[in-house]
Amino acid sequence: MHKDIQQVLLSEEQIRDRIQQLGQELLRDYGDKNPVFVCILKGAVVFYADMIRAFDAHCEMEFIQISSYQGTQSTGNVMIRQDVRKDLQGRHVVILEDILDTGRSLAYVCEHLRSKGVASLKICTLLDKPEGRAPGVTLEADYVGFHIPNAFVVGYGLDYDEYYRNLPYVGILKPEAYA
Ligand code: 5GP
Ligand code: MG
Repeated sequence: MHKDIQQVLLSEEQIRDRIQQLGQELLRDYGDKNPVFVCILKGAVVFYADMIRAFDAHCEMEFIQISSYQGTQSTGNVMIRQDVRKDLQGRHVVILEDILDTGRSLAYVCEHLRSKGVASLKICTLLDKPEGRAPGVTLEADYVGFHIPNAFVVGYGLDYDEYYRNLPYVGILKPEAYA
């Protein structure tokens, strides 16, 4: 285990097994729809790469980059840094996100993608912190890998100031690692 990690919350194996199950759920719902899977950069990229390979049917890939966090605090100011390229008019779109916390980022992305005239829009998130939702945000994910407690986690794509994204598991950072 990495020296800065206090506790492994989700092991590689747990993540792998859950993604296979999610792949089956998505296949049941989207197997004949040629969905567009939208990856929210950068945090979701590891989950995305595994998730699309657990979906055994036609699908297309798109990427969107937003920014909202600085350090361990959500700033609440969501900004689109890079938009999707494909025309999403009439398409069945599934957003793949690393973690749903306050819900502000996803609420913003959903509104943005809906305005492109999608046929349907759903959210698949690896992690959900139900206690983190900001006041007034009612958004929920349609597919959730794991519900986790209100702690700051890193690994499997999730960073602390750009570090730890390459850890193969999800873990809780030691407080002393927050420089
Ligand atoms: P929300 O807008 O729901 O508050 O935040 C979603 C985004 O915040 C995620 O995509 C992720 O980048 C970041 N985030 C929220 N909670 C955590 C966490 O525990 N660890 C890390 N590394 N990022 C988080
Ligand atoms: Mg993120």
